[in-house]
Amino acid sequence: MAKSNKRVCEWCYGKADLPRMYIPESPVLEFMEKKLIRIGKHFDGSLSEWEEWEISCYDEMVKSIRKGNVCTKCWEEDQKLYDKYYEEGTGESGVMLF
Ligand SMILES: [Zn+2]
Repeated sequence: MAKSNKRVCEWCYGKADLPRMYIPESPVLEFMEKKLIRIGKHFDGSLSEWEEWEISCYDEMVKSIRKGNVCTKCWEEDQKLYDKYYEEGTGESGVMLF
């Protein structure tokens, strides 16, 4: 039996033949994006320190790229959410923190 190239996906922990690729530190998380949209409308210093910290960490992680292993399913899911929240088509949410 040939040795397979199976690695563990870092996001869903499923095993698959994964190429080594560049992935963001954190996948796009729908609940965080919703929070960003909600908070985006009140970005006037009314955030708690915790919320500011949480948001800036998330923002950093989604944008920082590193080498890692993610399966096709997770990758496609992430691309879908990325398109939904970061490409045009999200309406007037005004979530431009960067
Ligand atoms: Zn996965």
